[in-house]
Amino acid sequence: MKKVAFFDAKEYDMRSFDRYNTNYEIKYIKQKLSPQTAYLAEGADAVCVFVNDIVNDETINILHKLGVQLIALRCAGFNNVDVKAAYKKIHIVRVPAYSPYAVAEHAMALLLTLNRKTHKAYRRTRDFNFNIDGLQGFDMYGKTIGVIGTGRIGKIFINICKGFGMNILAYDLYPDPNLDVQYVTLDELLSQSDMISIHCPLTPETKYMINKNTIAKMKDDVILINTSRGAIINSRDLLEALKNGKFRGVGLDVYDEETNIFFEDYSDTIIEDDIITLLIAQPNVIITSHQAFLTDEALANITQVTLKNLDQFFEGGPLDNQICYRCQDGPVRFECSTQRKERCF
Ligand code: NAD
Repeated sequence: MKKVAFFDAKEYDMRSFDRYNTNYEIKYIKQKLSPQTAYLAEGADAVCVFVNDIVNDETINILHKLGVQLIALRCAGFNNVDVKAAYKKIHIVRVPAYSPYAVAEHAMALLLTLNRKTHKAYRRTRDFNFNIDGLQGFDMYGKTIGVIGTGRIGKIFINICKGFGMNILAYDLYPDPNLDVQYVTLDELLSQSDMISIHCPLTPETKYMINKNTIAKMKDDVILINTSRGAIINSRDLLEALKNGKFRGVGLDVYDEETNIFFEDYSDTIIEDDIITLLIAQPNVIITSHQAFLTDEALANITQVTLKNLDQFFEGGPLDNQICYRCQDGPVRFECSTQRKERCF
């Protein structure tokens, strides 16, 4: 039986993989993968990792020396993996789409909560406080929402927004000619939107795409939602703008320094990261800890596709969900064409 070292394992992962796995000996490891913990993969044929594992050059070289042949990401984003360093050493596979609905619906949940302040109402009525002062929102019908990134998740989010009767502006490096939406430049989107939701990947081009300059181009009183990747927003600039009253609301499911914070319980600990502490302290900010993906359907898909990716790899055939340094040209850089009948190396 092939062995899989499964890093950053959570109870819900273990329940799901134990339910569907029959072919692999899985060693669940609580720690995240990093150069410091890579030795825990000794004896494993593959590692299975998630969004905050650090799969850099150093980690990859250690895994390679240990004989690990495959990095199986149980997520879509792969900004935490040095794809170039892995080329010709270790294959990489991912789960490109496990439930785009889960993430799009969570983005809408954040937007609705921020607008209608149901999180505050919940706390008030639990305390038998039935005062509604300060809970005023606005009709989303007829308002303009800007959607950055119109891929799988962005498209579903756009459909949800259409159901609300919103005007939709979209920005994408690769606009989809078949999508019934008005594409505009990023500047136009920023300056005309009442609400903005980010659905593009983290790449060198999108890192800190939302910074003090782009925030300045937004309307005052805008609501900003990010369920994509934290480092698309410069959090220091965001905090500064929040303090200056720029935003009506900010909903974040991701945070650029989330690696050592999210998914853990620090309720009894002093958090050293002042930025997240100050963000959480703002009355118009909601932070969820990278949970947008967390639905029954998404977890089942993640598990089944990851196990299928492992099967394909160990059966020696082409890999449907390969990420590879050789594949640079598509809309998603490094995403290999599913038409390919061979592995990238
Ligand atoms: P996708 O690849 O289907 O779509 C991404 C879109 O972004 C594409 O249309 C692409 O052309 C566009 N894009 C790329 N670079 C861009 C740029 N510089 N400017 C504007 N647009 C650009 O991806 P998806 O499945 O829709 O997922 C989007 C992102 O959501 C992922 O990259 C991931 O980071 C994030 N995600 C978050 C969670 C979560 O739980 N919070 C779960 C899954 C995915």
